[in-house]
Amino acid sequence: GQISETMEGSTGRVAKKKVAVVGGGLVGALNACFFAKRGFDVEVFETREDIRLAKIVKGRSINLALSHRGRQALKHVGIEEKIVSKGIPMHARMIHSLTGKQSPIPYGKKGQYILSVDRANLNKVLLTEAETYPNTKLNFDHKLQDWSVETGLMTFVRSDGSKKQTTADLIVGCDGAFSATRKQFLRQTRFNYSQTYIPHGYMELTMLPINGEFAMRPNYLHIWPRNTFMMIALPNLDKTFTCTLFMPFDEFEKITTGDQVIEFFQKYFPDTIPLIGVDTLKRDYFRLPAQAMVSVKCSPYHIGDKCVLMGDAAHAVVPFYGQGMNAGFEDCNVFDEIMDQFSEDLSAVLPEYSRVRVPDDHAIADLAMYNYVEMRAHVNSRWFLFRKYLDNLLHFLMPKTIIPLYTMVTFTRTRYHEAVAHWHWQNKVIHRGLLLSTTGAVLGGSYLLIKNPPNVNKLIIPAEKVWNRLMALRTS
Ligand SMILES: Cc1cc2nc3c(=O)[nH]c(=O)nc-3n(C[C@H](O)[C@H](O)[C@H](O)COP(=O)(O)OP(=O)(O)OC[C@H]3O[C@@H](n4cnc5c(N)ncnc54)[C@H](O)[C@@H]3O)c2cc1C
Repeated sequence: GQISETMEGSTGRVAKKKVAVVGGGLVGALNACFFAKRGFDVEVFETREDIRLAKIVKGRSINLALSHRGRQALKHVGIEEKIVSKGIPMHARMIHSLTGKQSPIPYGKKGQYILSVDRANLNKVLLTEAETYPNTKLNFDHKLQDWSVETGLMTFVRSDGSKKQTTADLIVGCDGAFSATRKQFLRQTRFNYSQTYIPHGYMELTMLPINGEFAMRPNYLHIWPRNTFMMIALPNLDKTFTCTLFMPFDEFEKITTGDQVIEFFQKYFPDTIPLIGVDTLKRDYFRLPAQAMVSVKCSPYHIGDKCVLMGDAAHAVVPFYGQGMNAGFEDCNVFDEIMDQFSEDLSAVLPEYSRVRVPDDHAIADLAMYNYVEMRAHVNSRWFLFRKYLDNLLHFLMPKTIIPLYTMVTFTRTRYHEAVAHWHWQNKVIHRGLLLSTTGAVLGGSYLLIKNPPNVNKLIIPAEKVWNRLMALRTS
């Protein structure tokens, strides 16, 4: 694509359009690279101090699952390998039953995996990468307070109370779920907005190495599904696991003493007690209160040719599909593709971006909400496991026609809303297929029955058994 340029004065100096990226988190820092690569003058404004200098980083989660969409965006700015080499592949979910039995459920085909990556390291690498462009400037300790739709004038407050004002040709709001950039959108006519807090909160606990080794098998995303709540654990490079307990807030609040924590873990996660350690559990449970999770949907994502929202600022999703950051990274990629399509004409790019991206981000928000139930409850059901098995088998037999939803979402760049539509279609086909094959078996059996009356008992019993098995699976 061509670079938007305006001639300035008679010196012949070329001034490129100025882009202000609000928020230097994961999506903001990556977006700075995308815009810088196109030659724009980029300034990033981030509330926090530079996390590369800070001793303790207050983050939202310690590690994250990175998959195809996120990787494609990182690849575009040339840092995929840098991040992947520091990630830990997770090939399957490892389901822990109450009795401590562990059963893997692969994520996809052999060789397909998601990566556990360190959030702080990823953010640091992205900021450093953004800084390698001479046309990028990072401003820390700059909190956006407000901006003007008419003039594009932004007002920032600093920790010493001072204020700073500046303008930009384009403001890119990447300031997370509680975006200050978005406040102006709420004052616009025909802007849709909704936010939903789920009743669950989350708490992170650390499982240290045992004798210098991972306490559990490292190349898995460990899950303890317990219906109304669950715990998951992702591996870190330092051989620790970060365990995240998801539970309704009122359940969290019922536990007020160290002994109650142990009692609770004894009841629901007994295999983790020796791995985390009684004393650590008693201490860490009370270190930080459980954190809330919010799902935010809005549309459109732009105001004129002035401002656009990306990442959690546009669509915070609950973390149960491991797609929040991946979707945010893909936002940058999609925007960049549209920039090419419309030769960087912002008055055409911004509306097109909203048109294309809103249905996809809304689809992943819905899917994440759906998985909120699936992960903690359905994985316990035999029907679910049967369907996973059947989907994988059919995918193997007809790789282009039947593609498991998880595969489309995690290992391809199929548009999210198309993945959902395809999933509905193939569910219909599979259910019909199941019905047909059962009917076929019954009819075939009846035919044989008529032909060979003496074998009645031998034939009826297996057919009945098959049917009962299926029904039992459906309702279990
Ligand atoms: C428990 C949990 C687990 C998750 N696991 C995964 C996972 O496995 N895979 C995945 O893909 N996603 C996951 N996510 C989602 C992921 O964390 C987010 O989607 C991602 O962090 C979004 O990045 P962002 O840059 O849009 O927002 P943020 O990471 O929130 O960054 C926003 C930045 O903007 C700054 N900021 C805020 N307000 C202002 C202001 N007024 N002015 C200037 N700067 C401001 C903030 O300081 C911050 O640095 C998870 C989320 C949670 C909560």
